[in-house]
Amino acid sequence: MKAVVDREACIGCGLCESVCPEVFELDGENIAVVIVDVIPQELEDSAIEAQDECPVSAITVE
Ligand code: SF4
Repeated sequence: MKAVVDREACIGCGLCESVCPEVFELDGENIAVVIVDVIPQELEDSAIEAQDECPVSAITVE
């Protein structure tokens, strides 16, 4: 499973980093970046939660 952030859509709210800091981080431009290549199995649920809770649907986990 992998995650992708649409940088054009992200508003830098920080929610994904709060929900799943092992996968998402805000960069120097206050835009979320994915910091792992493949999401470890034990983090899949929280990565999906971040996807579902992103206010602008900028995260795709698949
Ligand atoms: S939850 Fe969505 S809008 Fe907020 S920082 Fe993460 S990707 Fe950006």
